[in-house]
Amino acid sequence: MKLPLLTILAFASKSSAFFVAPASKISSNSQVLNAVSRKDSYDITVLPGDGIGPEITTATKEVLAALCSRSGMKLNLKEALIGGCAIDAKNDPFPDETLEQCRGSDSVLLACIGGYKWDKNPRELRPETGLLKMRKEMGLFANLRPAKVLPQLVETSTLKREVVEGVDVMVVRELTGDVYFGTPKGIDIIDGQRVGYNNMIYSESEIERIARVAGDVASKRGKKLVSVDKANVLDVSQLWRDVVTEVITKDFSDIELSHMYVDNAAMQLIRNPKQFDTIVCGNIFGDILSDEASMLVGSLGMLPSASIGESGPGVFEPCHGSAPDIAGDNIANPLAMILSAAMMMRYDLDRPEEAKLLEDSVEAVLEKGLRTADIKQDGDNCELVGCKEMGEAVAEFVSSIKIENEITA
Ligand code: NAD
Repeated sequence: MKLPLLTILAFASKSSAFFVAPASKISSNSQVLNAVSRKDSYDITVLPGDGIGPEITTATKEVLAALCSRSGMKLNLKEALIGGCAIDAKNDPFPDETLEQCRGSDSVLLACIGGYKWDKNPRELRPETGLLKMRKEMGLFANLRPAKVLPQLVETSTLKREVVEGVDVMVVRELTGDVYFGTPKGIDIIDGQRVGYNNMIYSESEIERIARVAGDVASKRGKKLVSVDKANVLDVSQLWRDVVTEVITKDFSDIELSHMYVDNAAMQLIRNPKQFDTIVCGNIFGDILSDEASMLVGSLGMLPSASIGESGPGVFEPCHGSAPDIAGDNIANPLAMILSAAMMMRYDLDRPEEAKLLEDSVEAVLEKGLRTADIKQDGDNCELVGCKEMGEAVAEFVSSIKIENEITA
């Protein structure tokens, strides 16, 4: 017997087949950000991956060495395999030993994975499968994507100077729930035609934990949080709005919370992006809005990101891929990975001063007029440098730049 789609959904919602992605109920005082409290020495797993990954990793490690010399902090960097190089060596894009090492670390710094060589492999032997496995095994449910337009790079944005100058937005996206993972889902034949359907679903505890991450992030930034939903149409969004309001009002009373419908948020990000400080949204809205926000900046080579779990280490990585078209040519931009290391300092290792030192040094290098090919503009009078030289220049500023309150170990 064929059932109409609505009947199937209604039945599913009453049956045990109805899927609510697991998320423990989080107590109001639990902390999600900062995997570890500030200490003198940290164990970091470094995953250079494929393509330009090893080059940008080498540049980033040089910068981190300078940071350790300056601050007295110790970073025990230990490399492991993920992606194509792991397939070649272990026939597995995310080997068990890499997972074990990541779990035993204070944080994970990833470059990028993928390349033409593995494009035709079966799904289980594709580099991207390694990334998905890592996110799942490490319970990474929150994705943080900053879009900061640095004054030196305003011209690389496709939008007008007066619109993008000073933009500094952070999109906090829920990563493991929503319509991407909800069931029932599928394509069935109903009344003689194919019908496709997915289930947009969030449990209270899933919303609560991402709201808590967003509250924590907003308190470390400008204390303004916009929660994005479609509560005028979707029941799941009404619950989203209610729970976000409850969490922020109760536990983050110093944060100014407002709500925005997703269609309006998409417009406002282009019309007046400076109005935003921190944005929190579900998986599908965040997928779209974080890409839109990142394009305010202009270049892929400047975009860091963080993925955070409920406990244990987070994973910090540039937004770009492995750029196989320029791999090995010393022209890749290492700044997104260096800025990802800064996020690791701030959001996992409880080292905000070191994060700021890295960010300030990146700005200083740009201010000095150094540019990799992806951020060089015709007639900008800037000096074109390679990946290695860019890393060395940032490391030099990390060692020498003046800071207001000098760091001590
Ligand atoms: P890509 O991000 O690798 O490259 C897109 C364009 O941007 C290319 O022209 C590249 O040269 C340039 N680019 C990217 N990063 C740069 C940098 N740091 N400096 C200078 N230029 C840079 O995307 P793609 O070409 O679609 O994918 C290439 C491979 O990367 C694929 O195998 C894909 O699956 C993989 N990928 C991996 C990740 C990840 O590791 N998280 C993300 C996206 C894509």
